[in-house]
Formats: sequence, structure tokens, C-alpha cells
Amino acid sequence: MSRERILVVDDSADIRELIRTMLITAEYDVLTAATGADGLVLAQDLSPDLIVVDYRMPGMDGLTMHEALSQAGYSIPTILLTGEGSEKLAIRAMRTGIADYLVKPIEISELLDAVQRALSRYWSMQIKERLPNHLLEANLKLEKRFREMATLLKIGASVTAMLDLQQVLNRVVESAVDVTGAESGSLMLIDRRTDELYMRAVRNVDQRTAMTLRIKVEDSLIGQVMRTGEPLVFSEREAIKIKTAYFIKSAVYIPLRIQGKAIGVLSVDNRVKSREFDSHDVQMLSLIGNFAAVAIENARLYGDTTQERDTLDAIIRDTDDYIIVVDSEDRVLFCNQTAREALNVTATDFIGRPLTEVISHPEVVDLFSKTARIGRGRHSEVTLDGGERTLNAQLTIIEGIGRAVVMQDISHLKRLDRAKTEFVATVAHDLRSPLTAVLGYTELIQRSGPLTDQQNKFAEQIVSSVHSITDLITELLELSRIESEFNVDLEPVNFCRTAESALLSLEHAAAVKHHQIKREIVPGTLLVHGSGMRLRQMCANLIGNAIKYTPNSGTIFVSVWGDENFVFFRVKDTGIGIAVEDQPFVFDKFYRTERAAADYDGTGLGLSIVKSVVDQHDGRIWLESKEDEGTTFTVMLPCFRPNVQSEVSGEPTAQQE
Ligand code: ADP
Repeated sequence: MSRERILVVDDSADIRELIRTMLITAEYDVLTAATGADGLVLAQDLSPDLIVVDYRMPGMDGLTMHEALSQAGYSIPTILLTGEGSEKLAIRAMRTGIADYLVKPIEISELLDAVQRALSRYWSMQIKERLPNHLLEANLKLEKRFREMATLLKIGASVTAMLDLQQVLNRVVESAVDVTGAESGSLMLIDRRTDELYMRAVRNVDQRTAMTLRIKVEDSLIGQVMRTGEPLVFSEREAIKIKTAYFIKSAVYIPLRIQGKAIGVLSVDNRVKSREFDSHDVQMLSLIGNFAAVAIENARLYGDTTQERDTLDAIIRDTDDYIIVVDSEDRVLFCNQTAREALNVTATDFIGRPLTEVISHPEVVDLFSKTARIGRGRHSEVTLDGGERTLNAQLTIIEGIGRAVVMQDISHLKRLDRAKTEFVATVAHDLRSPLTAVLGYTELIQRSGPLTDQQNKFAEQIVSSVHSITDLITELLELSRIESEFNVDLEPVNFCRTAESALLSLEHAAAVKHHQIKREIVPGTLLVHGSGMRLRQMCANLIGNAIKYTPNSGTIFVSVWGDENFVFFRVKDTGIGIAVEDQPFVFDKFYRTERAAADYDGTGLGLSIVKSVVDQHDGRIWLESKEDEGTTFTVMLPCFRPNVQSEVSGEPTAQQE
């Protein structure tokens, strides 16, 4: 058998030579031409078995050469070489009957495979030509389908990879028109609020009128596609005027569906040509419609996510809060404009750099290191501009990312707070002077001569009332001070000794009421990170209440113990108890139970002070009580850890008071 003859047409001498060598090595006879025009002449004169032709050539390009040959009645299988693959070219190649097309750079095996495929198809075609007509037709149809499917798959792959919604829509309409050979096409999406279809992309339709078009789903033919979820095909015979403001001769409408729900309609139509669409066009359009629906959903989701991210970015960027985020290695992941300005971060390439290199403010750096090691979020205050500005900082652990500090400017609140403290102090002072006078003169009256029993009783009443007011003023002042001490000077405190000391100061009061005190305070040291003075006050208030609200000859239990993480303090009495309905309110300022108010002196501020102190030490307090049986208050405070709390230098000086 004589060797098969292949014509290679390429304007590049190097590529011509390369392909020639490849083919000769594979034992083909090879002819070459440097231009499309020369190739055309050679092909007509020598009728090669196959042509390998470059797409882009000066003068006549490869496809045009192939088309010219076909028009002249030659059906030589042709392989097209292209520099870039595009589905447009693929569609055009498919329509002009190109056997195959290869994208450069081409490998030997790829070229030889394509050559072999094209030749064997060609030879089988030759054989088929001798086959009966109906078999031949069926075969041709099959081959056409195969090529169409390959093209559709390419379209699908490229469309579903797109993320820009408008680009997706344009490409879908373009492909629908190209594949069906229609004159024009359009894609409409549903507006769920108004139940109208509105135009999103068109091909060969006047953009301006088309884009303003809105069609009610309810009463339109296009809407019918949405309602039924079935494609619609119109032929010239039906001579319809679709509600699109122009006459059409034939059209196909395909529903676009996502998870069974129609989201729009893809359509192609002919207005001039008399070509009708058949079931095959519907099939191909339906396939494109399926790709389109997925691609539209992808692009929409991507668009939504991007928009959400942009909004979040803008919020975080423009917020007045100061935000800094670091990763688990203390490298800066984020620092917004507000924080950068306030903390003088001038470097622009701060992302990924160690926190201490980016931020020099010691309080901010300290905040990250302290809380990071304690392992929980906490509030703290940071001062700026030499104390002029105060920020309230909160550190939060973000699982899998790192830690974030968010700070708000609370300078105005601090100023208000200072004003309030000064006001309370002034009022307290101004009230104390006249009260001292009242007390003094009452004593003088008592000493100034014999008083009647009733006069004596009245005088005592005055003295007792003045003492009540003085207690109230003292406690109010205390509470206001504690509440303004946001960052109390914290130090390691031996809580066992603090509790002992508070108990000691109240032994006399207990003895007066013949109470028995049972203590269970672990010997040794239990360290708490806090203010010794405030902790002692907290213990004294709880023990004092137990003594006060227990009728004579009761028992008061005071216990202190600890575990790895916490120190516990418990005061239990056998007193009047607190009714369940009062229990949630006893820590409120000025709250007193009816029974306490009737029978016992008090201000209703003692437990508010206790709660403030516990809160400032990051502790917890709770109570259990039963009326006429007794009350138990339990406080839980985090332990001091010398190796954790970095601000302790040298030996911890366990504080007593
Ligand atoms: P005060 O004792 O000055 O009234 P507190 O704030 O210390 O104010 O307590 C608030 C209220 O809680 C008291 O008035 C009382 O009704 C109740 N309470 C506190 N401790 C006890 C206790 N140990 N037993 C019974 N009631 C108590």
C-alpha cells in the first residue's frame, strides 16, 4: 500500500520543518506550503490524503483555506493548528467540518494521534460512501452529534468557571446563538418581588429597548416556560408576536432551573430567516441552560460573598473602634486605620510582622501577652496621649485564627465618672459637717441638765439616725470609689490571712450576739491576684451580714480553701435567710428585704460593694438560702500564678491588708 500523503501549510518555516520531520519519521509522505493560497493550489493539484494547516497566517487563514477547498468540492480531512483555544473558534471549526484542532505547543504524540484519527475517519468515510444511503446518513448524524457534544462540553467548562455574573450571562446567550445558528438570543431572569422577568443579556437585539423590558410571568408566553418548567418551541406557522416588541418567525424558550426552581428563561429566535428549530436545537439549548443555571448560581453566590466581605471590610476599616488581630505566633494579621493612627503605626508592611515590632505602646503589647497566657478574654484600660485619652480594651480569642483586641474610646465616660466621684465626695463631706454639729449639740443637750425620759429617748433617736446617715454616706463613698477603680493596683494577696483579718475585726460583734464562729481556713498561703484592702472589705461585709442577720446564739461558718485554679471563700449562717423571690436582687444598690428593713439597721449597699469587688477580681459570687434556716454566700476568685502574671517582679510580697 502506498504511503499516505499529508500537506503541511504553515507560514513559519521552523514549524513547517518540525511537523514535516515528525510526519516523515512516522512514515508519511509530506508536502509543504508557506501560505494559505499556495496550500489551496497544492491541495487542488495533488489531492493529499490529509491537510495540517495553521489557523493564523497572513493573507488566507487556515479556516478560510479549508472553506475554499470545501466550496470547490474537495473533502480532504483537515487538522487546524491554533495558537489559542477558544470556544468561538471551536464552534466555527465544527460548523465548517474541520476534522480536529490542536492548540500549540503541540507534542509529537498528540499530532500523530490526531493525524491517525482523522485519516482512519476519512478512510471509513470512503468506505461508508459505498454504504446504503440511510446508513450513511445515520453515521453522519452521529458524528455531527459527537462534535456538538464536545463543543457543548467545552462551553460548559468555560462558563461554569466564570465568576462575573454579567460575563456568564453574555457568554451563555452568545453560545446559545452560535450553537443553534439562530439570528438572536436573550436571557431573562426573574425578579421575585414583582414576579416579572427582566432582560439581563442579549445578542443581536437592540440593547437599549431590550434592557428596559419587563414581562409579567403570570400572563405571558415566556412566563409560561417559567410556570411549567418546560421548553417552548414556536414555528413560523404560528406567527406570534411575543411580548418583546418585535415579530419573530421562530423561537425556542428554555427554562433555567436551580434545584427544581425556575430562575429565568434562555431563548433564541429568527426574525428574518425561515429556519425552524427542531427537537435537537431544544436539546442543545437545554444543555447550555443547565450549565448556565449552575454558572449563574455560582456567580451570584460569589457576588454575594464578595459584597459581604467588602461591606465587612469597610465597616472594620472605617469604624471608630481600634481593632488589632494577631495570630497564634503574635504576628499582626490586621490593624485598622483608627488603631494605626492612635498607636503611631507608620509602617505600611505591618501584616505578618511580630506585634512588638509594629506596636510600641507597652500597655497594648502587655494586654496581648497577659491575656494570651491567662487564656481568657478580659477588659482592661489603655491610656493614650499621656493619660489624656482612655480606651476600654477587650481581648477575644478567635478559634483557629488568633486573638483580637477591640478598643473603644471611653475618655468622655472617664471624665463623667471623675465628676461623679468628685460630686459624691463633696456632697459626703458637706453633709458630714452639719451632721457632726447635730451629733455634738444632741450630746450637749443630753449633758446640759436632767432630761425627762421622753426627751432622752428623742435625743437617742437623733443620735441613732445620724449614725445611720453617716453609715450610708460612708458606704456610698466607698462604692463610688470602688466602681471608679477600674484598674485597681493588683498584687499577690494571701487570701487566708485576708479572711482571718476580716474575721478578727468582727469577733467582738459576734461575741456581743453570743454567736459561735466555726472557721475552716486552710493553713498556709492561697494567693489571689488583687487588692488586699478591697478583698478584706468584701470578706468583712459578708461576715458582718451573717452576724447581723442571725438572731442571738447562732453559728457562723467561715471557710477558705483552694484548688489549682481558684480560691474559694464561704460564709454560712443560721440566720433569718432570704426568700427565693428576693435572692436575685440582694446585690442591687439599696435593695433590702422587707424583713431586714423592718428589724435591722442597714443601707442596702454592703452586697453591692461585695459584688463590685468580686467583679473587679474576675471572680464569681452566688448564694443559697432558705428562710429561717440560714444563708450561704460563696465567692470564687482566680488564683495568682507567679509564672503567669508577668507584672510581678521578684518575690511575691503576700499582702495582709
Ligand atoms: P444591708 O445589710 O445594709 O441592708 P446589704 O447590701 O449588705 O445591705 O444586703 C442587702 C440585703 O440582703 C439585706 O438588706 C438583707 O435583706 C439581705 N441579706 C444580706 N445578707 C444576708 C444574710 N446573711 N442573711 C439574710 N439576709 C441577708
